[in-house]
Formats: sequence, C-alpha cells, structure tokens
Amino acid sequence: MERFAGQVAVVTGAGSGIGRELARGCAAEGAQVHLVDVNESVREVADELGGVAHVCDVSDPGAVRAVFGGLESVDAAFLNAGVNGVPSMLQDGGALDELPFEAWRRVLTVNLDGLFCCLQESARIMKRQQRGSIVVTASTAGLRPEPRVSYPYVASKHAVVGLVKQASLELAGYGVRVNAIAPGPVVTNIGGTAPRPEAAVAAWENSIPARRWGQPSEVTDLALLLADARSAWMTGGVHLVDGGASALTQVLS
Ligand code: NAD
Repeated sequence: MERFAGQVAVVTGAGSGIGRELARGCAAEGAQVHLVDVNESVREVADELGGVAHVCDVSDPGAVRAVFGGLESVDAAFLNAGVNGVPSMLQDGGALDELPFEAWRRVLTVNLDGLFCCLQESARIMKRQQRGSIVVTASTAGLRPEPRVSYPYVASKHAVVGLVKQASLELAGYGVRVNAIAPGPVVTNIGGTAPRPEAAVAAWENSIPARRWGQPSEVTDLALLLADARSAWMTGGVHLVDGGASALTQVLS
C-alpha cells in the first residue's frame, strides 16, 4: 500500500541531492509531486517522476506565492532548498573578519528568507485545510558550531531550527505539524563539484563515529516518516541523522 496515495507533496531544492531523493521517495509512495528549484535541471527530475516542475527562487516571495497559489491542497511540504556559501564547506569555515558581507547575505537569503517564504505559503494552505506536515532540512550545523563550516551556514541553520520550533507551536492547533531533520555530512553537490582534498574528506570522516558520509537516501527515509501518519504525534522536533556525529563532543583522532 502506498503511503502517500492521493496526496500532494511539494519538495524544494528538488533538482539534486537530498531534495531529488525526497521527490523520488514521495513519487514512489504515490504522491503527486511538485518539484521546486532555482535550477532548470529540476525539469528532468520532474519528467522522470511524472511530477510538476517549478523553476523558482525560494527567496523570491512573489515567485513562491505563484507556485503555492496554484495548488489547491498540500499534504506534505519538504522545505529543503539550501546553499552552503563560501568558502567550501569541505575545507574550512573561513575567518570571520574575512567574510564578505555579500557572501553572508547570499546564504541567509536562500537558507532563511527562502525557508520563511515557503513556510508561510505552506502554512497558509495547511491552516485552511486543517491538516498537513512540513518537514524542513536543517543540519547538525543548526545545533552546534562546526569547525569546517561557514559562518552564514551555521547561523542560518540555527535560525532555521528556531523558525521550525516557533511555527510548530502555532500550527499544532490547526492540525499541522512542523519538524526538521538535521543531517550530518551527506554526499551531494552542496560542497561544489570540484575534487575533494583528501585531508579535508578525512577530517570530516574522523568527526563521524560511523566513519563515513551519509547518502541522500539515508536521510530521506526519516523525512518521509515525518510526513506520514505514523508520526502523527511528532511536531516541533529536530531529528538527527548523522552517523553519530552529534554524540561526539570532540573530533575523533
Ligand atoms: P544540493 O546542492 O545537491 O541541493 C540543493 C538544491 O537546492 C539544488 O538543486 C539547488 O539548485 C537548490 N537551490 C539552491 N538555492 C535555491 C533557491 N534560491 N531556490 C530554489 N532552489 C535552490 O545540496 P543538498 O546537500 O542536497 O542540500 C539540500 C539541503 O540539505 C540544504 O538545505 C542543505 O543545507 C541541507 N544539508 C545538507 C547536508 C550535506 O552534507 N549535503 C548536510 C546537512 C544539511
């Protein structure tokens, strides 16, 4: 029996990585999927799944309103679009005093403003229908500082966690749930497609008790569970899926 048969799901950042895997999972479980991404590549993914592609910048309130405004109902919204920022997340987070303001703003604009726009539109629809589940992709970097991750990424994901918790308070009264997943390092394109320096990859692996990065499918199952009726009493949570990385207080050697 398909878990999302007859349901409508929206996935942002669906053109690659975790979002693409989320969209595949929703389609495999019978949902009609709306795939949102700023990159045209989302059209190919939508074609593969028989879904609907929306090329849209999540940080543009008008564009987001146009996407959600065209939907009569939304059962599950996976708000996942995000960027990592500079410098590369694979190497080091960069010095505070060298961070250009534009780089700071770019990450905050996508990761926080973009989430706000999509969260607001999802809430509007779900409050009206008195049901729905919103699952936000946060990060372990939203729960603690990370030595190799940029300032705006860490700051934006901490804010994302706050927004999720705050929204869960209001929306619970309307039968709408809001949860976040907090993945550790996952193999996607977010760190860029350039070859990864061995030492940087090793440093990441040493910070994960499982001693390896996660695969997108290893984080999306959790997100799908949070959208389905079996998690009906779960809201306002931030759920770790990180190979044990958050259990550590220091980097393993
Ligand atoms: P990814 O780069 O493969 O996918 C991100 C997608 O978001 C891309 O398709 C991109 O085009 C899209 N996107 C970027 N800016 C956008 C915008 N303004 N409007 C619409 N779409 C936009 O990376 P990913 O790792 O799959 O990232 C997905 C989410 O997972 C992000 O929120 C990221 O912060 C989070 N995350 C990733 C990791 C990791 O290690 N990969 C760890 C924790 C959390």
